[in-house]
Amino acid sequence: MSMCKEDKGRVRGKKRKNGASSWLLVRRLHILNIAPVHMKLMEHLLFIGGKWIKSYSEETFPSINPANELVIGLFQQGNEEDVRAAVDAAESAYEAWSETPAPKRGEILLKVAQLLRKKKEELAKLETAEMGKVLPEARSDVQEAIDVFEYMAGEGRRLFGNTTPSELKSKFACTIRRPIGIVGLITPWNFPIAIPAWKLSAALICGNTVVFKPSSDTPLCAVELVKILVEAGVPSGVINMITGPGSSVGKEIVTNKKIRALSFTGSRDTGEWIAQNAGIKKVGLELGGKNAIIVMDDADLPLAIDGAVWSAFGTTGQRCTAASRIIVHEKIQKDFETAFCVRAKQLVLGPGLSEKTDIGPLVNRQAVEKCERYIDIGKKEGAKLLCGGKRLGIKGFFFEPTIFTNATIDMKISQQEIFGPVVSVISVKSLEEAIDVCNSIEYGLSSAIYTKNIDNAFRAIEKIEAGITYVNSSTIGSEVHLPFGGVKQSGTAREGGILGIDEFSEVKTVYIDYSSKLQKAQMDVG
Ligand code: NAD
Repeated sequence: MSMCKEDKGRVRGKKRKNGASSWLLVRRLHILNIAPVHMKLMEHLLFIGGKWIKSYSEETFPSINPANELVIGLFQQGNEEDVRAAVDAAESAYEAWSETPAPKRGEILLKVAQLLRKKKEELAKLETAEMGKVLPEARSDVQEAIDVFEYMAGEGRRLFGNTTPSELKSKFACTIRRPIGIVGLITPWNFPIAIPAWKLSAALICGNTVVFKPSSDTPLCAVELVKILVEAGVPSGVINMITGPGSSVGKEIVTNKKIRALSFTGSRDTGEWIAQNAGIKKVGLELGGKNAIIVMDDADLPLAIDGAVWSAFGTTGQRCTAASRIIVHEKIQKDFETAFCVRAKQLVLGPGLSEKTDIGPLVNRQAVEKCERYIDIGKKEGAKLLCGGKRLGIKGFFFEPTIFTNATIDMKISQQEIFGPVVSVISVKSLEEAIDVCNSIEYGLSSAIYTKNIDNAFRAIEKIEAGITYVNSSTIGSEVHLPFGGVKQSGTAREGGILGIDEFSEVKTVYIDYSSKLQKAQMDVG
């Protein structure tokens, strides 16, 4: 796989519009000193109806390496017209794909998994370059994609419905699964291969055709993933990919009536807009979080600290399941904070490709500015900064691992998703108070409790309002055959495993009456 090789498809015959051409843009980037002087940037294309083509807009946007601020490629600034073309292509391909036996579709997905495995290292490096996460984490992102394509390939021989007795004699009742039709997939940048893979694998095994819009922060990962699907034999028109802004490409996918289902992963605010504007279609939302780890006074402290460091600072705090609140029993608060700070200060910030690096950069400049805003807010709210709190004064979007203490539940830093390496410690006197604090937010995605007491563990499992609860483990670490998703403002979807199949299939109820007479259900039961 090369970062610079794509089938150059036909360029549509429309006249160029007034926007900057890609070459003007390259020059502008050079002037801004964010592209190397002699670098000829590769222009990547949209994938519609089995062809790599330019956008009707004839405009491009850059994808930037967050570790050094260099441009790694130019991508089509897709628009509404492109989405409509993709929908037409998906519509044309639907009949043949939905009629392909599911086990045959599964064979193609298995091939995708095999190709991903073969290209794992290249893809991981590319992901680190585009998104910033450290290489071992990028490898695990690709591994998750391999796992989910393998799992969903197997679903091709299951896709189970149910059979159940009828209330009448000589009548058979069952449910079967049908594809939904054209599905729209809109994804974020923080798992630029795994999240599209969760959605694509489930959508395709169920027999849907797809219009896929990746995040504009990670379009290269999406392009490479689509190439692998094509190489594995996904037929023309079954997958279509449009890069470009949420405000045009995303909006058209959300509102287009031919798109029968939408699977979205991203922020709460975008999710809310989608919920209000999608119209009558099946909508699955995987949104943000403000996840907490409870550390009880009977916890294995070193283990809890390991979990807190990983949950708060892994992926530079840019996971929907990252822990941004540590709820600590007051009896162990001092010991916990001291050790937690020591560990945070030991973390090495740097480019994700360096083996010495523990923490990569944030995804972009806005993310750095957002962290800075919340550091100011936290200080003004009366929380005490224990460590971190600053960007690094070097090229790249680096921000120090940051710990606040003396945080209270009403503070914005305890309520709002920061999506960076910023965590607040909140002290509590009891398990009941810890659970109240844990639930005192609008989100409900992941959660964890560290305790040696089985009663504490079960009470937490029962009472915490979240889609996921870990006992004696961090808030991170989903497995593809188990459901993943949140409650409250964290969303409505459950992806992964058989519930992931539910997101992308319709259930049809079938009654077969072999009594050769008119039976009227409830009226004939007696
Ligand atoms: P985002 O909401 O800004 O963007 C997500 C996607 O939506 C992007 O592709 C974007 O271009 C598109 N988009 C933006 N506006 C749109 C619109 N009006 N209509 C349609 N599409 C639109 O989120 P992000 O910054 O890319 O990702 C970070 C967020 O994602 C965080 O809140 C994080 O918690 C969340 N997230 C959730 C999960 C989960 O599974 N629950 C997983 C990863 C990330």
